[in-house]
Amino acid sequence: MYEKQEIIKWLRTEDEYQLAKLWQMADEVRKRNVGDAVHLRGLIEISNICARDCGYCGISAGNTELERYRMPEEEILDCAREAVSFGYGTVVMQAGVDYGIDKDWMTGLIRRIKSETELAVTLSLGERTEEEYLAWKDAGADRYLLRFETSNKELYDKIHPRLPGESSDRISILRRLKEIGYEAGSGVMIGIPGQTYEDLANDILLFKTLDLDMIGVGPYIPHHATPLGKPGEVTYAAAGEQVPNTEGMTYKVIALARLVCPLANIPSTTALATLNTDTGRELGLSRGANIVMPNMTPRKYRAMYEIYPAKACIDETAADCRSCMSRRILSIGRTVGKGRGDSPNRKTAA
Ligand code: SAM
Repeated sequence: MYEKQEIIKWLRTEDEYQLAKLWQMADEVRKRNVGDAVHLRGLIEISNICARDCGYCGISAGNTELERYRMPEEEILDCAREAVSFGYGTVVMQAGVDYGIDKDWMTGLIRRIKSETELAVTLSLGERTEEEYLAWKDAGADRYLLRFETSNKELYDKIHPRLPGESSDRISILRRLKEIGYEAGSGVMIGIPGQTYEDLANDILLFKTLDLDMIGVGPYIPHHATPLGKPGEVTYAAAGEQVPNTEGMTYKVIALARLVCPLANIPSTTALATLNTDTGRELGLSRGANIVMPNMTPRKYRAMYEIYPAKACIDETAADCRSCMSRRILSIGRTVGKGRGDSPNRKTAA
């Protein structure tokens, strides 16, 4: 099951009978290892300011069409309080690589959330310094999300221009985050131009090697204001080798991630829900996922955090997202998780 060729075979299969078997295996492994509870993570997109120029991302520095924001501390705290009132066990604070979110400001914010609430705190603030990771852990942050996006180094370097004088090695950072004591989460986009089936199989195997506590995967969705969003200028892998950025491929990767990393927390992502608004979340949850991330970002900011077009849930309030997610979870016979929903992978490692 964990051999590269076997993974490639699954990624390539279009046989409905075989796929039904894959969904069933992933669902059984999910049930046995992380149970029926679906944990809700309140997502707060605290800033869309970004110093980096990732070739695919709608909030990258190069998108000059975009109005920029950084949420004030009090507003973020209000969101955290709202998360508590909704019964969520975790808030995820996500942003571009925003150096205005400096070490001390973020440390103060984490300390306030931790002193006022029982919430687990997840950070997704991009590539930052060792000093910052240490200070934020010390202030009480529990988890860090940083997708490595692709394990193909050449493709990675092509779509992640470095800042002058800086290196960009997310795989080393992920190892270090685990050493520091964070629950570490990572993942990839599916169907990046130039990504081959072999690359994607290597990505899935790397989830295991890195011993990830959380794995988030979603389809790559082109954004017109980015270099990768200009179809005429993009290089694809050879015919028959390029991974498609489809809903179906996303379910395969979720299912395989579950089989390879049985104890990881795996979300059914917003990018997936963007491709299939009606049932994408539910199908992700039925094919290996056990987490959803209802958006809590105040409505006035949501359209400014459009990392890809037509992003799901952009017009909803935090309360809308909460009831929508709960309804979807209950509709497939699952339960809404209580408490922090720490990664069982982490607990066994400790
Ligand atoms: N700055 C942080 C970082 O780099 O990890 C967090 C914010 S970044 C916008 C969060 C994730 O959005 C990225 O890891 C990437 O996988 C995803 N993303 C960005 N642009 C996307 C696109 N066009 N299609 C699908 N996912 C995208």
